[in-house]
Amino acid sequence: MRNERDLPEAELRQRAREAMRKGDLPRSPAAQIWGGRGTGLACVVCGSPIGADEVEYELVEGDGGDVFRFHLPCHSVWQFECAPTHAAS
Ligand SMILES: [Zn+2]
Repeated sequence: MRNERDLPEAELRQRAREAMRKGDLPRSPAAQIWGGRGTGLACVVCGSPIGADEVEYELVEGDGGDVFRFHLPCHSVWQFECAPTHAAS
């Protein structure tokens, strides 16, 4: 069965970059982050819900700031796009 979570990494990276450009995602990974079980809320990168059988990464920007939720692979993609070596491209 195919669903949103099977998006190729290239597509996820494009979405992460787009979200960062629009300001929907922080441009720096230097924030607090927790891992836990999914709560059914949408992932900020791929837009699919993160189910209870999946790992959810929850990132909080600043003190009491915005909360961003990621699937584990989506978080990896975002971190990769945040890396300074890729910022210029
Ligand atoms: Zn995702």
